[in-house]
Order: sequence, then structure tokens, then C-alpha cells
Amino acid sequence: MPVGEPSRPYVICPVCGHVFRATYASTYVTVGREADLCPKIPGRPSDGARLIRSAVTMCPVCSFAAGEAFDDLDLTFDERHGIEERLKEDGLLKVFRKGQPPWLGFHAAEVCGKERSLRSRELGDLCLRASWVCRKEKERPFESTFQLRALRHFMRSLQEDDLIGRELSVTTYLVGELNRRLGNHREALNWYVNAGRTTEGDPRVAWLDRLIDRQSKLAKEQAA
Ligand SMILES: [Zn+2]
Repeated sequence: MPVGEPSRPYVICPVCGHVFRATYASTYVTVGREADLCPKIPGRPSDGARLIRSAVTMCPVCSFAAGEAFDDLDLTFDERHGIEERLKEDGLLKVFRKGQPPWLGFHAAEVCGKERSLRSRELGDLCLRASWVCRKEKERPFESTFQLRALRHFMRSLQEDDLIGRELSVTTYLVGELNRRLGNHREALNWYVNAGRTTEGDPRVAWLDRLIDRQSKLAKEQAA
């Protein structure tokens, strides 16, 4: 399969049983990352957004969504019921289900993920990806909305998820970077310092140390 060609197998929605063709993410070429780790993808931003979006699958009937392949999910009766209720009650889905904005799949995956007891780290990741899609699609108010939600999940993750190593360092850094992007420059500086402490000069995360230095300088200028 050529690079960038997504596979489109038939899948069965584990909540409502609807059968449809899903678009699963394939590998794609990136040319580095932005400071919030958003992949830079050659071509038009909307093409990049489409590739990022293919990381989640959403059922077109009930809006069940997940980052995992549907075949791999084994939901209990209670989980299915809880997910149905959450999807029915969710305010954003009520308003946006018809219009299918590009971030909708990530939002739905977050709603369902809460019922599936995903870790805060994973919930934050879904919101972070949603913010990337919004930026590439120039949906600025929603970009900030999802950045704030990612920030809150990552903060909770640092308290609850027992993160270690690279995951701890990257999550701490992202709390700084999301604060900076939301205009909280002094808060950002504190979190960059915390992130620097977690890397302890580990050569495997030298790239992160460089990023922390660069973004700290930027936040200092912005705070002045
Ligand atoms: Zn469904």
C-alpha cells in the first residue's frame, strides 16, 4: 500500500452494531513537529488535518468513537449502556452531529473514553489532537477550547496516572506549552522548569531539553 493511502475495511460499531467502512490511519510523511508536537505534514493544511483525523474512528449512526480499532474493543454491557447515555446527552454532539466539524470524532472519543475509564493521559491526547485539527482547519475558538481541555486532563494525569520516564517529561512539558499557547506565560515558565527536572539530562530526550530551552525563552519574552 502506498504511503498515505488509508485502508478502509468494514467495521462493526460495538455500541449500535452499524456496519460501515472506516478509514484507518496509515503511516504518513511528516517534516518535523510544531512546539506542541503537532506533526508538520507536507501539502495543504486540510490534508494534514484529514490524516490526523484518521486516528479516530466514529460510527456515523450513534457517534461512538475511539482511537483503537473497533475489532479490538470488548465493551461490557454496562459500558455500552453508559456510552449510549453519554452520547445522547452530550451538548456538543447535539449541536454539531449533523454538521460533522473536523474535530467531532476526537470529542466523541473523549466522551466515550470517560465511560471506558481511559487514563487522563489518553483523554488529554485526544483533546490535543483535536486542537491540532482545529489549527490546521483555522477553527480558532475551538482550538483554544480543546487546548484547555487537554491541559486539564494532563494536569490530572500528572496527579493520578503514575507517569514515568519519557511520558512524564513530555506530559509535563505539554502542560507548559499549552499554558503558553493559552496566554498563561508565567505558569508556562514554571512548568517548563518542572519538565526540565524530569529529563535529568537523559540523552534519549535531548530533543525535549532543546524544546524546553527554546519555548522558555519565548515564554519569557511574551511574559515581559
Ligand atoms: Zn454506532
